[in-house]
Amino acid sequence: MKAEIIAIGTELLLGDTLNTNSQYISEKLAELGIDVYYHTIVGDNPKRLKECLKSAFERVDLVITTGGLGPTQDDLSKEIATAYFQKKMELDYDSLKFIQNFYKRGNRVMPKSNEKQAYFPEGSLIMKNNNGTAPGYILENDNRIIIQLPGPPKEMKPMFEENVIHYLNKFNNYIIKSKTIKILGIGESSSEELVEDIIRKQSNPSIGTYGIPGGCKFRITAKAKNVTEALSIIEPVEYELRERLKENVYGVDDESIEEVVAKLLIEKNLTISTAESCTGGMVSSKLINYPGISKVFMQGITTYSNKSKMKMLNVKKETLEKFGAVSKETAAEMAEGIAKVAGTNIGLSTTGIAGPDGGTKEKPVGLVYLGLYLDGKVKTKKINVANISNNRNSIRSRSTLILLDWLRRELII
Ligand code: AMP
Ligand code: MG
Repeated sequence: MKAEIIAIGTELLLGDTLNTNSQYISEKLAELGIDVYYHTIVGDNPKRLKECLKSAFERVDLVITTGGLGPTQDDLSKEIATAYFQKKMELDYDSLKFIQNFYKRGNRVMPKSNEKQAYFPEGSLIMKNNNGTAPGYILENDNRIIIQLPGPPKEMKPMFEENVIHYLNKFNNYIIKSKTIKILGIGESSSEELVEDIIRKQSNPSIGTYGIPGGCKFRITAKAKNVTEALSIIEPVEYELRERLKENVYGVDDESIEEVVAKLLIEKNLTISTAESCTGGMVSSKLINYPGISKVFMQGITTYSNKSKMKMLNVKKETLEKFGAVSKETAAEMAEGIAKVAGTNIGLSTTGIAGPDGGTKEKPVGLVYLGLYLDGKVKTKKINVANISNNRNSIRSRSTLILLDWLRRELII
């Protein structure tokens, strides 16, 4: 079955509202194994909406629209569809009662204009709206199916989940299942080079590559009769990809780097503390996002000034004078310093130039030193995370990501 989604509403064309409905419906239809061929957006204009329906049904069998089911003059979706199918509109008493009750519950009287929300093309299957006044409906006619849903996502989604999925299941003879493997440390094009031949030879599952900050992800998507079969199609391909991408793979699906690191720390029972300069608490904040981190995270300090680096972490005055605050020597003393002060197995540190000013030829904006103290040994890493706009926030978050990924790599050796 081929489908088109038509999002109706002038606000969408004006850029006031982002068309999230089409994205949501596409995602759901993919899971149902229904191919979405087109997304259309059209304003609240009867003539153009009619043209849209006409061209949609020339190329697909199923059209799902959202929006324009409201009580006002410009809500015309149902009227246009009814005319397109050359049907009459009929009053549905149940819907009228339901809408009247909706107003009663809120101690209000139903405006006359709402009556039109209870009219539907004859022969349609009506879907209640438990979160608003506009019911939706499904109409089958000569191998063409139209499904009209309300615009507000909080009304449209429950209706889709409670009614539409159930209805569409009868057309569905396969499902779509995806698994995503996530990479840090190498970008989209370098990663893709490593697995190009694997991607090329695949059709089921297919493999899509997408960039993410600091890395990329590969989405492996299988079409199958059921989830078990889909997973068995995905598994060997996932194995092949992992063989090539090795330790650059940090996690799957929704896993974040901090979650992966936190789980490793807990599993290995290694305690950790952080001393941050340029990242200003981002590293500790990321780790603390993970519930259960209290088992291993002991302390995080932002030591921004030289004075605090000396006072809180015992960084030597001579180190700061001789090499500067942004140096591998300072990063090393910070990492070791915090581990000693907090009494943890691991100490992490960051010190760098977050910009936009303050850079020099020797130490440009974006230059960051990271420190990692583990098992009595301290290592440092020099990175340059400058970007075109020298945006402080992205310099800080990229440094944080690289440090957490570095720690992950150290923990899996
Ligand atoms: P309507 O059902 O046309 O009265 O739409 C009411 C409201 O739903 C709009 O003002 C938007 O806030 C929201 N809405 C309509 N269409 C969409 C869409 N495609 N994606 C997200 N929100 C939408
Ligand atoms: Mg509207």
